Amino acid sequence: MHPNSVLNDLWQVGGRQWDEPKLRQQLLLEDAAHACCIYLPQHQCPDKLVWHYTKDGIYTVKSGYWLSLHLPDANDHIDPPLGNPLLKTKLWKTSLPPKLKHFYWRVLSAALGTAHELNRRGIPIEDTCQRCCQAVESINHMLFQCPYASKIWRLSNLPAGFTFSSSLEDNIEALLLMYNSGMNRDKQHLPFWIGWQIWKSRNDLIFNKITWETSSVLLKATDDVVEWLAATQPSIQRPPRNSPTVHSPSSQWTLPTTEVVKVNFDGSFHSHNGSIGVGWIIHGDKGTYLLSRSSKLKQASNPLWTERLALLHAIQSTWCCGYRKVILEGDCKALDDLLHRRTTSITMENLLVDIRSWADLFAEISFSLVRRECNQVADKLAKSAHYQPETI
Ligand SMILES: [Zn+2]
Repeated sequence: MHPNSVLNDLWQVGGRQWDEPKLRQQLLLEDAAHACCIYLPQHQCPDKLVWHYTKDGIYTVKSGYWLSLHLPDANDHIDPPLGNPLLKTKLWKTSLPPKLKHFYWRVLSAALGTAHELNRRGIPIEDTCQRCCQAVESINHMLFQCPYASKIWRLSNLPAGFTFSSSLEDNIEALLLMYNSGMNRDKQHLPFWIGWQIWKSRNDLIFNKITWETSSVLLKATDDVVEWLAATQPSIQRPPRNSPTVHSPSSQWTLPTTEVVKVNFDGSFHSHNGSIGVGWIIHGDKGTYLLSRSSKLKQASNPLWTERLALLHAIQSTWCCGYRKVILEGDCKALDDLLHRRTTSITMENLLVDIRSWADLFAEISFSLVRRECNQVADKLAKSAHYQPETI
């Protein structure tokens, strides 16, 4: 990049959106994908300096000290990370949870602290596998070739469980082949969770001297898959029609005061294609149903932003519908903390700028938190949005 480049050189001309082809041209593909997910505020706000190494962007001595220990020397030559970049890209395109993508990225980059890797980095420790004492504890051995791991893979009955080789990249390729083979989603995900649980069991053995049964490793991995898929797949139901049936709110849901409307909102992240569904419903002061909507937003969004985007969408829509005295009600504690300034987050700052700018337009506006079971209609609307063919 040109040394005098500024950030908005990477925006679309005349707009406040990233110019994605330009991003990909200027940055590494992996970085460009992350950059595309950064929300750009639609309201102009002054630039300010933030400290990258704390969550709230404010400098602390502790973070400064940490940085001084970890900052690379300008004279040091930095090697690119190990591992096949093509394989890493394939991995990044899956709908696995971010922690698994990151874990397998570390696997491919030889960045897991197995005995062999620690030795390679100059830490003088015994490099034999503590599990079988038969081989050097490399990443490939620990995950695929150790007799303990082999037993788990065989127990899983997955096709790749019987064909692992001495090549780490071939083995990860085998997992990805299973992922893309059109099997059931649980079987697509299971091998990646098995590897994750083998790593966790290895750490429990090394650091806590606790041995897990092979069957319990497999069971934990299976539970993880069920839990992850249940949390991320939209429930199997048809989307509501234009005039949805409004279920009676539970006793926890309270009526707004006279002349005020209450807007319950929620968001839903679909990991399979990265889309975000948002839903909101408006009630009047007698609990009368006034309006509701569900929309599918463009992909390339960060799942952590789901609730924030749902709120922004609800505020904009409520304003456009002509309501000026509102209570916005959601079920996300982290968002409620941000809105009431109990916490701060530099990654959410841009989105909050827009939320606050829209909020300033109302005669009366407040934000409240309800329990999830009191927000079920908004939740269902958000999930139903995934069935919509078009994004906004
Ligand atoms: Zn071993």
